[in-house]
Amino acid sequence: MLHVFFATLAVSLVMTRPAAAQAPEPIRYTLRFPAPQTHYLEVEAVFPTGRRAQVELMMAVWTPGSYLVREYERHVENLVAAADGKTLAVSKPVKNRWRIETGGAASVTVTYQVYGREMTVRNNWVEAGFAMLNGAPTFITLADEAPRPHEVRLELPAGWAGSATPLMPVAGQANHYRADDFDTIVDSPIIVGNPVVKTFEVDGKQHHLVLEGDPALFDADRAAADVKKIVEAGKGVMGRLDYPYYFFLNMVVESGGGLEHKNAFLTMSSRYATRTPRAYVNWLNLVGHEYFHNWNIKRLRPVELGPFDYEHETYTKGLWIGEGFTDYYGALLVKRAGLSSSTEYLGELSNTIDQVQMRPGRLVQPVDMASFDTWIKQYRPDENSLNTSIDYYSKGASIAFMLDAKIRKATGGARTLDTAMRQAYQRYSGAKGYTLDQFYAVMSEVAGIDLQPWFADVVSSTKELDFTEALDFYGLRFTPVDPAGARATMGASTRDDNGRLVVTVVRRGTPAHEAGVNTGDEILAIDDVRVRADGLTARMDQYKVGDQVRLLVARRDRLVTLEVTLGPEPGRPWRLQTRPDATAEQTSRLSAWLGQ
Ligand SMILES: [Zn+2]
Repeated sequence: MLHVFFATLAVSLVMTRPAAAQAPEPIRYTLRFPAPQTHYLEVEAVFPTGRRAQVELMMAVWTPGSYLVREYERHVENLVAAADGKTLAVSKPVKNRWRIETGGAASVTVTYQVYGREMTVRNNWVEAGFAMLNGAPTFITLADEAPRPHEVRLELPAGWAGSATPLMPVAGQANHYRADDFDTIVDSPIIVGNPVVKTFEVDGKQHHLVLEGDPALFDADRAAADVKKIVEAGKGVMGRLDYPYYFFLNMVVESGGGLEHKNAFLTMSSRYATRTPRAYVNWLNLVGHEYFHNWNIKRLRPVELGPFDYEHETYTKGLWIGEGFTDYYGALLVKRAGLSSSTEYLGELSNTIDQVQMRPGRLVQPVDMASFDTWIKQYRPDENSLNTSIDYYSKGASIAFMLDAKIRKATGGARTLDTAMRQAYQRYSGAKGYTLDQFYAVMSEVAGIDLQPWFADVVSSTKELDFTEALDFYGLRFTPVDPAGARATMGASTRDDNGRLVVTVVRRGTPAHEAGVNTGDEILAIDDVRVRADGLTARMDQYKVGDQVRLLVARRDRLVTLEVTLGPEPGRPWRLQTRPDATAEQTSRLSAWLGQ
């Protein structure tokens, strides 16, 4: 009865509001590069006003996927508004908004310049030969509005051949695109210049690998062939490709990183990324990670991650799934695609586990709170971060590894984490999103056991992770490299600051921490003999574990003497290896997992 009532109401609403079916008039942007070598982009935007006396414009202060308020408006200059040939009054009510007195005009034209010289996946870069643009730092939009199309037309400087972006092209017009709403334009990077583009098809869908920057040394053909295998491996996990097309936008530059989008990703990699096996696998792992996001976080997300408030922090406790599970699958897709060996894969997973287990902050911060506080911690690391916080990428990936084994074990190998992710996708993808309890329920349902108490332990507490079950299931063990106790150490990280030996990080629980060594201390001498910036390792070789040394440091320009009792170097205890005595059953489970 209730259902019928709502159905009738919905129909009558649609019938009595025909205006709702009409798309609002678009905002039209023209982007120009009159002097790209100065790193400036010129934006002209025509905003429909609906004949209101005043309109308010807004610029995003952060961009989804990169959880820090970045104050993009700081790179905006010379914002001027005009209508019907007259300049209009503009005021700023807050840091990222502009109020325009329209004088009753039907539309206002706003021009502004954007400085773009940050080579990161969340900002802009403009130079003589190309531009890399992101939505949040580029497009000022109408504030407090219902979704409205945003159109972008690019005017290219001489010598620039074209553009590549997941934005929908406007038919018949080169370098002219349309987004249904502001979310889409924020979610769509634009590469302009002379990009190298390699296209391949999977499932009838076009995939474009786009290289810009300095791709001369980058083996584009080989990369495209291998990225295709990663797409196929991804489809093997999630069962379907839900995008209309996909752009792998890869800047070949001197920085790194990646950012996911719904129908694309933007990554940065070295010009030498395809030149050595190790660098190449690392690049493929990055591709696997950012690509897997098209399912995990862009279409299947914690409920809080959309629709976005672009002017304030968005808090979620689910990034250990959104990022951690994506990290787990990123490298796994590369392995299953046959692009890395089992040894390489287990080495990567060992590094992940190492990052959790060697971090003192694992005993301080639960991973759900690492997600919640990402705005003030993950994206604002300092010298004490290792002691006070956990990284939701590595801990989330470790949880995924254990969960996958748990589901396989509970179902006799009939179901896996892949099954569970597909089930979660089916139930919660799109506008829905999931709460953590809903996510736990799906995982439990697929496993056929109640996993809620286990999740409470690994996610919401700081208890040590127990890998025993997963290791036993696959016939793996941890085999330490550099066994502990071999070498003596103070346990402080240092750097060479123009010949000065300066302490950078003092981990909790190390001899340096107990002796009161501080971050920023300049180490001058050990046992009254000068130690140079490049000589600490050699000097430590003169001692053994348990020796007490007298450390002379300069701290804020005063000389301080500290007594330090040297401890053992921790070595690398978390190296995964297959057990030599693994049973045939364990070996076959390992193969089923890694896709051999
Ligand atoms: Zn990610």
